[in-house]
Amino acid sequence: MKYVLVIPDGMGDKPLASLGGKTPLEAARTPNMDFFAAHGVVGLSQNIPDGFTPGTDIGCMSVFGYDPKIYFTGRGPLEAAELGIALEKDDLAFRCNLVTAEGGVLKDFSAGHVSVAEARILIEVLGERLREKHGERFRFYPGGGTGYRNLFIYHKADPGMARIVSTPPHDIMGRAYRDYLPKGKGTDFLAALMTESREILENHPVNEKRAENGKARANLIWLWGQGVPPHFPSYHKRFGFQGAVITAVDLLKGIAIHAGLDVIAVPGVTGYFDTNYTGKAEYAVNVLRSRDFVAVHVESTDEAGHMGDAALKIRAIEDVDRWVLGTLREKLKEFEAFKILILPDHYTCVETRTHSPDPVPFLIYSSREEKRGPRKFCEKTAAESKIFVKEGHTLMNLFVKGGVLPS
Ligand SMILES: [Zn+2]
Repeated sequence: MKYVLVIPDGMGDKPLASLGGKTPLEAARTPNMDFFAAHGVVGLSQNIPDGFTPGTDIGCMSVFGYDPKIYFTGRGPLEAAELGIALEKDDLAFRCNLVTAEGGVLKDFSAGHVSVAEARILIEVLGERLREKHGERFRFYPGGGTGYRNLFIYHKADPGMARIVSTPPHDIMGRAYRDYLPKGKGTDFLAALMTESREILENHPVNEKRAENGKARANLIWLWGQGVPPHFPSYHKRFGFQGAVITAVDLLKGIAIHAGLDVIAVPGVTGYFDTNYTGKAEYAVNVLRSRDFVAVHVESTDEAGHMGDAALKIRAIEDVDRWVLGTLREKLKEFEAFKILILPDHYTCVETRTHSPDPVPFLIYSSREEKRGPRKFCEKTAAESKIFVKEGHTLMNLFVKGGVLPS
């Protein structure tokens, strides 16, 4: 048996007046998903546990079968994994944003989308100057794909520090940032580093040049999303097989690495509307020639939601259906038997342009055991099925090992 997981990021949505009361998934023409639905099982899965922010990190941990309540230790450690940074067990990994401050106010969490090249220079200078002064207790790492997203590792952290309170910078735009500096055991030092970063960055030539060109200065670091290294039981240990993940998104690569899954690069994959959908499906089939599990993650559905564009979201869903699921449906025939799980991580609502924690529709199809399901795969038919997986992280186990889906 071969197992295929397809994650259309943020595909779930609410009914829209502009679509005559339909959701984008409901309005989209999706013959391949509908085929799998008609011969499979659909239901709802609660991927975001109560009290958690409906982010891709939490949603995808559930999708991959890891209970966020147990395994989520912070955003920083997942991003460290993606950058290939091996954490020691007493390391504390933080997301380190480059942000823009004006006076005492946090103006922009992305520092005017500072470029990767500029961020590299700033992060390097910062690391040198601060380590000169404070020693080697910490280290900065430039991020991979986005300038404002960098990483800060604090070594030999007191275990109590994992519980300090830090605030995402995108939540305090326009506010006095000093009120939101990290709080709790050992945070005086972190707050001091953040304050000192401003002195080093404010008039750095990179920022002088940005200011000359009318761009925001990247003049402050913001440390948040900290966590100790998580310990995920690997897929091999849980299910006895090897597998791989295909994605353009750093966070997903981090989850894959922690789960002991390979990350497969596909040419032309962008995480955007022009991504190489067919290539993703073809590489997925190739993965299954030597392994038993593959996950294909697609980001464009989430992007369209954030843009608040219903037509674009429909198009992204139709592209996923045609090029990813259509290609899989055709090419998976070479294997004796296969199962597909289609499972978005969360809703990304066109109307509010943001994520919501609603239970998402899922679909399971097995070529060995065809069933009679609804003729359309969407939020409505998933709700009507009365199948409800209250703890989304349990669905992966049911998908692989079988068993009765809860109602
Ligand atoms: Zn997501």
